[in-house]
Amino acid sequence: MSSHENPQRSRVSSSVKFDIDGIQHGHLSLPYSRDDSAWGSVRVPITVIKHGEGPTVTMIGGNHGDEYEGPVTLLRLANELDAEQITGRIILIPCLNAPAVDAASRLSPIDQVNMNRAFPGDAGGSISLQIADFVTREIVAISDIVVDLHAGGKTLDFAPLAAVHHLDDRKQQQRAEELMFAFGAPFALRMRELDDHGMLDTLVEQNGKLFVTTELGGGGTATANSLEIAYTGCRNLLVQAGVLSGEVALRASQILDMPDASCFMISADAGMVEMRVDIGQPAYKGNVLALIHSYDRTGVAPIPYVATRDGILVARHYPGLIKPGDCLAVIADVVPV
Ligand SMILES: [Zn+2]
Repeated sequence: MSSHENPQRSRVSSSVKFDIDGIQHGHLSLPYSRDDSAWGSVRVPITVIKHGEGPTVTMIGGNHGDEYEGPVTLLRLANELDAEQITGRIILIPCLNAPAVDAASRLSPIDQVNMNRAFPGDAGGSISLQIADFVTREIVAISDIVVDLHAGGKTLDFAPLAAVHHLDDRKQQQRAEELMFAFGAPFALRMRELDDHGMLDTLVEQNGKLFVTTELGGGGTATANSLEIAYTGCRNLLVQAGVLSGEVALRASQILDMPDASCFMISADAGMVEMRVDIGQPAYKGNVLALIHSYDRTGVAPIPYVATRDGILVARHYPGLIKPGDCLAVIADVVPV
């Protein structure tokens, strides 16, 4: 890298303009010269649709490269949406961490950066940091609402949910919740992050804008069901935001809360996982949630993992084998309505 002479100037260029009416499909490009491509570049696909005066909603997929509901849904919307249906502006970035999406990996294969810990980014930093910097300065800055579509990736599976954070500003939280409920995933979650440093979520919220995220499935693929939830949810949210014409196809969500880190069950053992509860199902404090078997011999009792609270199992370790330190399960509290 030789960009430290002027760290304030982004090396990312955009082939789309954010202030002209109509629909544009293009790329954010940044130089990435390498062994297999001298003067090569990284290209992040982007669609901008603008018509009339209204809010700006930015929708992002592929923040992690092994999650598919976001990218597939935003690619579909980029093909379907038409400027005449829009009042305001929609920015679609289906594959934000394009090198990670290309490698089907959570982190960028170029710099091993987790894009969702790279914000606000650095114009003089590695590829992921440069992308984050451009998003912060050029896209979050002009957005009223940012939606970041996640799923569990290859190592987690989630009960389909839309989520907002617990915020100090109650009004900001309430407006974000209206969008979450319009999204209408089977579950609607209020949560605190284990570690919010460097997240897009935190950046958007600290700038006083509305942020909604999702966890819509996982296992490194997407299903017809999870894609339907994502697609209808995104259209609903755009209608609720006032940027897309039509009506919200209202679907009730079960409300959940993750108040603190005690919701996360971390494995202390290596072995083969026997789940006793599936995602989306109730968990009861004191009941066995999973067993971890040693599988290099027979006749050894498995290690039981007991639910530490009553609630709904919202996430589980997806692969059949687990290691110490891996997240085994996440239980969220049910919020009575
Ligand atoms: Zn993710």
